[in-house]
Amino acid sequence: MSRPRVVILGAGYAGLKTAKELSKKNVDADIILVNKNDYHYESTQLHEVAAGTEPASKITFNIVDVIDTKKVQFLKDTVIKVDKDNKKVLLENTGELAYDYLVMALGFESETFGIPGVDDYSLPLVNIKTAEAAQAHLDRALANYQKSKDELDLSIVVCGAGFTSIEYLGEITNRIPKLAKTMNFPMDKVKITCIEAMPTLLPMFSEKLGQFGIDVLKKRGVTFKVGTPIKEIKEHTVVYEENGELKEVHAHTIIWTTGVKGSHVVGESGFSERRGRVMVEKDLRVEGYPDIFMIGDVSAVMDEESGRPFPTTAQIAIKQGEAAANNLARLLTNQPTEAFTFKSLGTVASIGNNVGIGQILGGKEVKGYMGSIVKKSIINKSLLAVGTAGTLLKKGRFDYYH
Ligand SMILES: Cc1cc2nc3c(=O)[nH]c(=O)nc-3n(C[C@H](O)[C@H](O)[C@H](O)COP(=O)(O)OP(=O)(O)OC[C@H]3O[C@@H](n4cnc5c(N)ncnc54)[C@H](O)[C@@H]3O)c2cc1C
Repeated sequence: MSRPRVVILGAGYAGLKTAKELSKKNVDADIILVNKNDYHYESTQLHEVAAGTEPASKITFNIVDVIDTKKVQFLKDTVIKVDKDNKKVLLENTGELAYDYLVMALGFESETFGIPGVDDYSLPLVNIKTAEAAQAHLDRALANYQKSKDELDLSIVVCGAGFTSIEYLGEITNRIPKLAKTMNFPMDKVKITCIEAMPTLLPMFSEKLGQFGIDVLKKRGVTFKVGTPIKEIKEHTVVYEENGELKEVHAHTIIWTTGVKGSHVVGESGFSERRGRVMVEKDLRVEGYPDIFMIGDVSAVMDEESGRPFPTTAQIAIKQGEAAANNLARLLTNQPTEAFTFKSLGTVASIGNNVGIGQILGGKEVKGYMGSIVKKSIINKSLLAVGTAGTLLKKGRFDYYH
C-alpha cells in the first residue's frame, strides 16, 4: 500500500513551519511542499525592501536550505486551484497533484476594496517583486528631480495608515534625507502625505503610544490626513473625500498599503470565504473537508475572548503551522486532533531602524530605541522559527544598533 501524501501549499511562515515541524515528527507519509518561488521571504520586512533600506537578499533565503530534503520534497510551482472534492491540486507547470491531506497556506494579496485605479496607478507591497518595484520607482522619481525640477517627483503618497504604512513611512523618512545628499534634491521640497479613511491612527495601540509614533513621523515631515476615505486613484493623483468634498493630492509615487486579503486561490477553489479567508474549525480544518487544513493569512480563527477573529499575523501563522503539523501527525496515527489555542505575545511596529512602538505581554508598553530592540528580537524569533540559526547568522541579524 502506498504511503499517504501530505501536500503543503505555500512556504511562507505558516506553510514552511508546518513542513519543518512535520518532518521532525517522522511520520509515515510523503510530504510535498509547493511554493511559487524557490525562496522564502520574510513578509514582515517587505517595507524595508520597498523603501530601499535593506536589499531583498537580507530578507530571503532558499527553501531547500532550511528543510530536511530527505523527508520533505520541495516543488517550485504556482497553485492555480484546488479540486477539493477530488483531492487534487492544479499546478501551473506540474499539472495535477493528488493529496491525501492538504495544508493551504498561500498567504496574502493586496486588497483594493474595489477602488478604481488602484491596480493601474499605485504600487502595492505584498511580495519581493512588488517591494522591489516600489523601491525602483521611488528612486527613479527622486533621482529624476535634478533633471525635471518637477516637484511631483519629490511627492509621495502612502494610502492607508495601518501597520505596513507606518513601518514603510518609518523607513522612507530615514532614507530620503540621505538620498537628498547623494541625488542632490532639496529636502524642503519633499512632500510625504499619508491618507487614512478611519478616524483614528494606529488603533491597535493605546492612544498615547499611537500618538508617540505619529509624532515621530510628523517631525520627520509626514502629513497625515485622517477620516478621509480614498475614492479613486488616477495617474499621479489620489482622490479622497474630506468633509463631504472630493479633493486631490498629486504625486509621482503612490504606495497602496490599505490592507490585505487572503489568496485568490481560496475563492477560486470554491471555499466558503470572506476576503480570501476561511473561518476554520477549532483544529484548523475546513468544515466539510476533514482532509484540508487552512492556516496563516488564508484562515480566520475566532478569538473566543473578543468574539472576533484574531488579526492575521506572522505570529499566529507560525503557531498555526506548529498546530497543523501536530494534528496531521495525529491523524496519520489515527489519533483525534487537538484544538488550536493562541495567546498573542503583543504587537510592535518599527518606525525606521532605531524607533519602535509596541505593547508586549502583560500589556507593557515599549517605545523609542527600546521598542526597536524588542521589534528586532521578535523578527529574529520569527526568522528562527522558519529558518535555522545559520540563517540568522548569514543575514547578520545580531546588529541591534544601526
Ligand atoms: C510590511 C508588512 C509588515 C508586517 N509586519 C508584521 C509584524 O511585525 N508582525 C506580524 O506578526 N505580522 C506582520 N505582518 C503580517 C505577516 O507578514 C503575515 O500575516 C504573514 O506573512 C502570513 O504568513 P503566511 O504564511 O500565511 O503567508 P505569506 O507570508 O504571505 O506566505 C505565503 C507563501 O505562499 C506563496 N504563494 C502565494 N500564492 C501562491 C501560489 N498561487 N502558488 C504557490 N505559492 C504561492 C508565497 O510566495 C509565499 O511564499 C506584516 C505584513 C506586511 C506586509
